[in-house]
Amino acid sequence: MQIIVLGAPGSGKGTQGALLADRLGVPKIATGDLLRAAVRDRTSLGVEARSFMDRGLLVPDEIILGLIEEVLRSPEAQDGVIMDGFPRTLAQAEAVEGLLADRGSRIDRVLLIDVPEDELVKRMLGRARAEGRSDDTPETIRKRFAVYGEQTAPLIRYYEERGLLTTIVGLGTVREVADRVNEALGR
Ligand code: ADP
Repeated sequence: MQIIVLGAPGSGKGTQGALLADRLGVPKIATGDLLRAAVRDRTSLGVEARSFMDRGLLVPDEIILGLIEEVLRSPEAQDGVIMDGFPRTLAQAEAVEGLLADRGSRIDRVLLIDVPEDELVKRMLGRARAEGRSDDTPETIRKRFAVYGEQTAPLIRYYEERGLLTTIVGLGTVREVADRVNEALGR
């Protein structure tokens, strides 16, 4: 099962992706987590990525495409993967498609976790207080929403046109949203 979980910052895509990964017995891979680990370890990737992340910008495709390739070619990803936080641009979407096609695979479903913007802002500010992520300041949060609208939201249409998109109402409890996800996947 190759599943992409798509959603704005604060939509809960990471939480839902993790629950789904457990249910399906496939790994969830989040480029955001991999990047934060690289920043922590001060690898050259991390050093490069950090300045973009802290400004709420996407890490440029030139840097991310190698990471995505590494992820999708890793042994743990061979039986399917839940993609959380990527692809995030059209170039990344094309890269994912190509890498999967190389091994005769393809995306099975794209789940859009849909949450109204006022609710997203509320959640993000709450998380900023709770977790203290360095990119969760009000200014960076605003920037990340703008970047999502400009660079990632076009993927909604892209996957809709390919008949792959299912929109999940992202309001309610984690359990309620998870039930909708499972229902959408028919399991
Ligand atoms: P959120 O969805 O709340 O923004 P993520 O953990 O998915 O959280 O991403 C945090 C940051 O990491 C992004 O703002 C961006 O700078 C960087 N990032 C993560 N994934 C990608 C990606 N696929 N392409 C470019 N940048 C990415």
